[in-house]
Amino acid sequence: MALFGLGKTKNAFLEKISRVISGKSKVDEGVLDDLEEALISSDVGVDTSIKLVEAVERAVKENKFLTQSELHEIIESTLTDQLKGKSFGPDSISDISPHVILVVGVNGVGKTTTIGKLANYYKKIGKKVFLGASDTFRAAAVDQLKVWSDRVGVKIIEKGMNADPAAVAYSAVEQGKTENADVVIVDTAGRLHNKVNLMNELSKIKRVMGKVIPDAPNEVLLILDASTGQNALNQAVEFSKVTDVSGLILTKMDGTAKGGVALAISDQLSIPVRFIGTGEAVDDLIPFDPESFIKALLK
Ligand code: GDP
Ligand code: MG
Repeated sequence: MALFGLGKTKNAFLEKISRVISGKSKVDEGVLDDLEEALISSDVGVDTSIKLVEAVERAVKENKFLTQSELHEIIESTLTDQLKGKSFGPDSISDISPHVILVVGVNGVGKTTTIGKLANYYKKIGKKVFLGASDTFRAAAVDQLKVWSDRVGVKIIEKGMNADPAAVAYSAVEQGKTENADVVIVDTAGRLHNKVNLMNELSKIKRVMGKVIPDAPNEVLLILDASTGQNALNQAVEFSKVTDVSGLILTKMDGTAKGGVALAISDQLSIPVRFIGTGEAVDDLIPFDPESFIKALLK
């Protein structure tokens, strides 16, 4: 994973960890407390931070006197070990019929932008991508997706504002199937403030997709704004109650010091983080890999 784009999270994290271990050659209570505080304040989350600190404590139990680089290494390997066995990274694409991705999340988290970047990602690896403009709720939403479809050079299926989102989704999947698309990505409006409505709308969209392709949607991708820190984690929990979320993308990792939430989410939820968004440009989407992420934060 490229190291760019994580600026603020990286600086904040590294600075805090460095402050904890600088000048220390012994891991005592004080160091462990400071480490815990550094992790929690980087939005790694209380539960995950406590687990990590306990793991560091166990790791240094035998030999409390360590060099700074040994300490650094222990922190890195403990963080990494903690996330071993969790799944992450892009979903595999079946080559039988279009892989249908339904994109959900509250307003402003970066759904439409991320769809543009995802379309670019899949197109670059040789996939034929179609977009479905099922956020028909806000005036600019369809136009915004059109701009992305032009920019990336992929087909968009839209019926304008106020059209039935499920009807648009149906057409997108149907055309994707008839025209042999590999990936169909469908945008939605994010209205979590009305849970029943949202649940009904998403169920309806999923139901009509399933009429065209029984397996569709193959993926329900929840977009979360990393700059909201722990709130992003809460949104993931809330959305999972409304629909079966199968993957996550954390956006705005570039502008925040709260990117540590990626570790909390990977640790606490059984939903894979697939990509992280690191800017507003078309290439600012990185497949997530916790090991490289931790390395990027600590180096
Ligand atoms: P939606 O309402 O969920 O569809 O969100 P949009 O895609 O319209 O994005 C909302 C705002 O967030 C826009 O100004 C985007 O350019 C911005 N945005 C989305 N992803 C990122 C990202 O990874 N980094 C930064 N810095 N901005 C982003
Ligand atoms: Mg949108």
